[in-house]
Amino acid sequence: MSYDLKVLEQGCEELGIALNDTQKQQFIAFYEYLAEKNKVMNLTGIKDLQESMIKNIYDSLTVYDKKYFPEQGRILDLGTGAGFPGVVLAILRPDMQVVLMDAIRKKLSFIQEAVELLCLRNVEVVHSRAEDAAIQPVYRDAFDVVTARAVKSLPVISEWALPFVKKGGFFAAMKGPGAETELGESQSILHCMHASVDAVKELTLPSGEQRAILYIKKNGVTPTRFPRKAGEAERHPIK
Ligand code: SAH
Repeated sequence: MSYDLKVLEQGCEELGIALNDTQKQQFIAFYEYLAEKNKVMNLTGIKDLQESMIKNIYDSLTVYDKKYFPEQGRILDLGTGAGFPGVVLAILRPDMQVVLMDAIRKKLSFIQEAVELLCLRNVEVVHSRAEDAAIQPVYRDAFDVVTARAVKSLPVISEWALPFVKKGGFFAAMKGPGAETELGESQSILHCMHASVDAVKELTLPSGEQRAILYIKKNGVTPTRFPRKAGEAERHPIK
């Protein structure tokens, strides 16, 4: 397999993170397992190995900022797909408990196998739609930080993600170049959910693409009517 680990090392260095040998091995094992399994099932559209290192691994690292990821805290990665950014965060922060949630089981079985291969002990895989899990007491108001990459538009994903966040915690939305527009369209839902933007981190990937991470703070308990029933936020987003 031909790829260059420098991108991963560079990403960690920019974040001020020194990976130990176990973490390095876990990154390599996850990445290679993904590339191998991607030949027989559709896990990521990015087939080129070096491009995948940048757009999957490095890109996942960009959501990390220690301010939002407290020690011994809990992370939820909503719509995790093949584990991005959730598995990357679980490797980075073995002290944190990470829940990886997705509505599609197929990719979750890949993650479960990967988690066992990597001996990650801080990961729980949950097969559910966000709207169904968010009303369960074990998941509601339960996470210090919720991440979501490439899941839905910001008005929709905010309605799904914020009920899971603890009061005072954060939703970290990973977005592309249209982030400002989406943020403009999300003012009503953020207001309804007692949430506000804490910070916007703009960056450029080594491959040139623009990214924006929106850190949204949950200031008050989510009203019980949210999220609305499955599919409703997508059909009628609150804008
Ligand atoms: N975060 C991953 C996957 C993005 S694809 C990455 O960046 O590579 C979007 C994922 O969101 C899909 O795996 C899809 O199954 C999941 N998804 C869509 N709607 C969902 C819902 N209502 N609840 C949970 N997961 C959902």
